[in-house]
Amino acid sequence: MKTHSSAPSSADPADRPNPAPGGALSSLPAVDRLLGDPRLQQAIAEHGRAPAVEAARKTLAAARMEMRAGAPAPGAEALAAAVLQTLEASVRPRLRRVFNLTGTVLHTNLGRATLPEEAVAAMVEAARHPCALEYDIDSGGRGDRDDLVSELLCELTGAEAATVVNNNAAAVFLLLNTLAQRKEVVVSRGELVEIGGAFRVPDIMKRAGAKLVEVGCTNRTHARDFEEAIGPRTGLLMKVHTSNYAVEGFTKAVEQAELAAIAHAHNLPFVEDLGSGTLTGLEAWGLPHEPTPREAIAAGADLVTFSGDKLLGGPQAGILVGRKDLIARIKKNPLKRALRVGKITLAGLEAVLRLYRDPDRLPERLETLRLLTRAQDDIHAQAERLKPAFASALVGWPVEVAVEAMRSQIGSGSLPVDRLPSAGLVCRPHKKGGALNRLEKALRALPVPVVGRIADNALWLDLRCLRAADENEFAAQCAGLATAGK
Ligand SMILES: *Cc1c(COP(=O)(O)O)cnc(C)c1O
Repeated sequence: MKTHSSAPSSADPADRPNPAPGGALSSLPAVDRLLGDPRLQQAIAEHGRAPAVEAARKTLAAARMEMRAGAPAPGAEALAAAVLQTLEASVRPRLRRVFNLTGTVLHTNLGRATLPEEAVAAMVEAARHPCALEYDIDSGGRGDRDDLVSELLCELTGAEAATVVNNNAAAVFLLLNTLAQRKEVVVSRGELVEIGGAFRVPDIMKRAGAKLVEVGCTNRTHARDFEEAIGPRTGLLMKVHTSNYAVEGFTKAVEQAELAAIAHAHNLPFVEDLGSGTLTGLEAWGLPHEPTPREAIAAGADLVTFSGDKLLGGPQAGILVGRKDLIARIKKNPLKRALRVGKITLAGLEAVLRLYRDPDRLPERLETLRLLTRAQDDIHAQAERLKPAFASALVGWPVEVAVEAMRSQIGSGSLPVDRLPSAGLVCRPHKKGGALNRLEKALRALPVPVVGRIADNALWLDLRCLRAADENEFAAQCAGLATAGK
């Protein structure tokens, strides 16, 4: 806060800065008097008295601290301005919408999948009204919330049963805790995945009470490695999809069907953590193939886990599908109650799953797939349309604006090595200096913050995720960069 630096001269003696070094703390007004300032009345009426009191207290505390450090007492106008700023910052929602121009479609830090309108409408409806969450409308008796989506999940994956929890990490945890507590879980060393730092297969396993038995080497694991690791304490065999990296070169992994056969020969379940888990073959739309739960089930997996908000394109959720008896055991685990999802998630998930019943129209209707399949020409044309407004807003900045081809990533650990041909706006600085960092910061300070990416001494704004409906809003707010610059 700079309450002391911006106080202008004024006829009102209360507005004049206190010239005494270190200022007399007693010259600061009390909260009530400060809030009586006419400049604050409109904001108090709009946001309420309590948040205004809080903002005034914070402002006065900051002023006191600055005065103790030798600053003069702030004038009334500067204090009022500081209260206003603090108040407005405190009432602005923290979870703000942003423009994701990072080039990563499923960006975990930006909330992963954006949902189709069908899901948004269903979630609003569920939020607004009472709904039959655990209530069987036909019988008037108690229902099971999983029933809202389990039939659809079985139809779309070929599994016998399904259940839903908070996210895929929870799904893996619940599975291990139910089926492998105080038992050994055999996993290939090449699959001990860490996802975003917080989800590590070995850590989840430990917390779930299972003992990890690593087999094979980072690059190669053979069927006999699994055979030899199976003993009296083995609980299950597990395969983890290496979602966010690829082991390339001299590699060997044991195929699902072979692992399933080994597990079943020893009367053990074979489970697979797919991570992303799209419900349809992406290659139909020119995208690289990503393993599906249906394939895993068909290959003999007894249970498969995957996320709701990665390639599936739904709300955050963790989905477990597979054998009826195993799903029943998982649902009886008291931790299921702790990890279950709410009605809003289920409403969104159900709506998204319904879209998958009609795969032909999926790319138009499922937002995630629409973004992933956007043609480079289309994105390029959008970049050309936006360039004039963007470039003219940056006239005072020491950067060159160009429309260029670039490559998007799918993100969230899906298909890590594949890139999608895309296009966007690139800003290259005229000379070395902090221009790019300042520009990146100015973009984040716009009404709808714009998140781009700095790489190779340029700022990249990949337009793949800029919806046509948002184009004008984006162009209009770019004008704000002109004043922020230089
Ligand atoms: C993403 C991922 C997870 C974690 O899923 P969340 O939905 O983020 O909890 C677990 N395993 C794999 C293989 C993943 O890719």
